[in-house]
Amino acid sequence: MSLFFVAEGEAKDRFVVVIDAGHGGHDPGAVANRLKEKNINLDIALKLGKKIQQNCSDTKVIYTRSKDVFVTLKGRTEIANKAKADLFISIHTNSAGNTSAKGTETYIYGLEQAGINMEVAKRENSVILLEEDYTTTYQGYDPNSVESFIMFDFQQNKYFEQSIHFASMVQDQFRILAKRPDRSVRQQNLLVLRLSAMPSILVEVGYISNSSDAAFLAKDANRSKLAESIYRAFIAYKDEWNRKKVSEHVDRESTVPTSGTIYKIQLMASKKKLSLQDPCFKGLSPISYYEENGWYKYTYGESPSREALSGKLAQAKRYFKDAYIVSFKGGKKQK
Ligand SMILES: [Zn+2]
Repeated sequence: MSLFFVAEGEAKDRFVVVIDAGHGGHDPGAVANRLKEKNINLDIALKLGKKIQQNCSDTKVIYTRSKDVFVTLKGRTEIANKAKADLFISIHTNSAGNTSAKGTETYIYGLEQAGINMEVAKRENSVILLEEDYTTTYQGYDPNSVESFIMFDFQQNKYFEQSIHFASMVQDQFRILAKRPDRSVRQQNLLVLRLSAMPSILVEVGYISNSSDAAFLAKDANRSKLAESIYRAFIAYKDEWNRKKVSEHVDRESTVPTSGTIYKIQLMASKKKLSLQDPCFKGLSPISYYEENGWYKYTYGESPSREALSGKLAQAKRYFKDAYIVSFKGGKKQK
């Protein structure tokens, strides 16, 4: 059920954020310590949406649900895709057999490395088993099968950079503002992220299976803090988005070719030539390389401004802790 409708072809001049409260209706999500996940998710979603509406006149907020109703995973992403949303934020609450697990996690779409458990993906994707015709809707997708993970292609890959960037800002705020234990940004094959055609994250605001997290989540003031954390990350993300839009515009208008220095982020060196799509680059794009003293040296991103690369550098350092900025002039690396 779509609560909002955007006519196709309608000009979109505002930033559109879709806020997705996980579960709802006959699907309570995780249940523990007298709490139901669906209620926590909805409360934080509405608090976040309200904050954005009050403070950002340039943003349109769309909820996948604004009350206690069931919405299919596909229905949720259809709302976002139809609205041509710029950002998708799915809000969930975690649960684990190990009741000592606590803290917040933020997920982006990706195929997790072998060996990492698929608990969250299995649980969040298994919601489709509650949908009447899931076998036809999801073309044989079985949330419990590993093979099903591979069937899905990497559509979300092109939003990987923006998604991971926003996800890490949200985790930072959860840690700094809401003082939650930081369980970091993770990648999993989450259907609700996989099917959405825009930068997308799924936050797990805490473990209701853990008594201290549950006590925290039960308090209205604390749920406000979590909403405020996501809100602050959202503001930072949207500011960058606005600046990028302006600079893209300037780029298009500019007819003078840049002959100055170009900066890139050096990630690693290898004796062997690698494909630029090699998984060792963790989905970072664009990757390029140059040769030096018999080594292939791989770089990420490029800009005529060193400062403009600082966000990308921070992102690269998550995977390549020794990443640093190198400069080129006339195609030659500068010493
Ligand atoms: Zn959930």
